[in-house]
Amino acid sequence: MAKKLNKQDALDYHAMGRPGKIEVIPTKNTKTQWDLSLAYSPGVAEPCKEIHRDVENVYKYTAKGNLVAVISNGTAVLGLGDIGPEAGKPVMEGKAVLFKIFADIDVFDIELNTRDVDEFVQVVKALEPTFGGINLEDIKSPECFAIEERLKKELKIPIMHDDQHGTAIISSAALLNALELVKKKIDKVKIVINGAGAAAMACAKLYVALGAKLENFVMFDKNGVLNTSRTDLTEMHTQFATTSKVVELGEAMKGADVFVGLSVGNVVTPDMIKGMAKNPIVFAMANPDPEIAYDLAIGSRPDVIMATGRSDHPNQVNNVLGFPYIFRGALDVRATQINEAMKLAAVKALAELAKEPVPDIVNLAYNERNLFFGPKYIIPKPLDPRLLSHVAPAVAKAAMDSGVAQQPITNWEDYIEVLNK
Ligand code: NAP
Ligand code: MG
Repeated sequence: MAKKLNKQDALDYHAMGRPGKIEVIPTKNTKTQWDLSLAYSPGVAEPCKEIHRDVENVYKYTAKGNLVAVISNGTAVLGLGDIGPEAGKPVMEGKAVLFKIFADIDVFDIELNTRDVDEFVQVVKALEPTFGGINLEDIKSPECFAIEERLKKELKIPIMHDDQHGTAIISSAALLNALELVKKKIDKVKIVINGAGAAAMACAKLYVALGAKLENFVMFDKNGVLNTSRTDLTEMHTQFATTSKVVELGEAMKGADVFVGLSVGNVVTPDMIKGMAKNPIVFAMANPDPEIAYDLAIGSRPDVIMATGRSDHPNQVNNVLGFPYIFRGALDVRATQINEAMKLAAVKALAELAKEPVPDIVNLAYNERNLFFGPKYIIPKPLDPRLLSHVAPAVAKAAMDSGVAQQPITNWEDYIEVLNK
């Protein structure tokens, strides 16, 4: 049984020793006067001049190429909501920790005191010289869509809003594997999505890129079903508006093959699950409480494949399966963006990895004996050490094949060996 977490443990963890969770550590010798004259004046002038001569040398002589900014304005933090930039900082520091331990990527967390799209974009653009990549984090919708879209156009370094695309990538891998298990084709399945925010829209778009048909979606937001008679929808939402007469969630779920929840907890009942088609796939991903509790959903019928965002149940859709490795691959080929091909490559790599035999070290980490591909294991576990050497090369290769890699990898064996070190 996992140890129960209490408030004081969490506060003590953050406050003990030097407050917070990260620090900056020099990577070169700094013990002698000689070292210091190289690290700083006068020696430092030489790399400055080389970079001034050719700006690409910034990757050769500075930390830029392994440095990602995790940038938030604290308007949609975890399940906590709009708590402001300072209150969001522990989460951004936490993300920095995850980047470092899973993919050896260094992170500066940056919390911006602005809610304005133009100002946000301007600030991030001005930060471009410092970083090899930008992970946008916990920015509320709809602003997150415009911010990411504009920055993608205007920056020459990879950028990804993880709450959108990380979720889409991991849940897509889970969906492909769940569909394989129940022998259904993605272009045939009826998909109901509750929620039409940052995560839900990115998921829906990626499922379409994987073959799902627009006409097979029914989506809901706080105001009800997205249908063609609504006049309050954005262009992005209108694509997914149904022409059917369905009004209620339960009605939409009747006969549906897939339910995806990216909304709020406890809005789905066991009866709604019972109404779904044979072998239903239920991804109830609202955090911390899923749209329907795991036990309720599983108890409602024996043929359901269930995933949640929680670590205390099988099939956790956890973004940490994606972002460290997606950025690793992107940085390693100096990609100018994280494009659709790279996201799809990450999906496929994650889906494939779940089908491979699970090493003892992973079973041990989760107190399991025999994890194997099936309804209770459709995506890899976050502590699987194989993630790095499976996902990062797939993303790097997709960047190369899609023409956005500025520094292609030529020796894959060497590259994977370095990753595994
Ligand atoms: P978001 O941008 O605020 O979107 C929330 C969406 O849910 C909005 O479209 C909202 O409608 C809709 N909604 C709220 N209450 C609803 C209800 N009762 N019925 C139907 N729709 C409702 O937030 P987000 O970042 O997409 O995240 C949504 C949820 O997914 C959160 O619980 C989050 O923790 C979870 N999530 C989980 C994972 C994961 O497990 N890996 C990843 C990302 C997000 P309006 O548009 O009308 O406001
Ligand atoms: Mg987040």
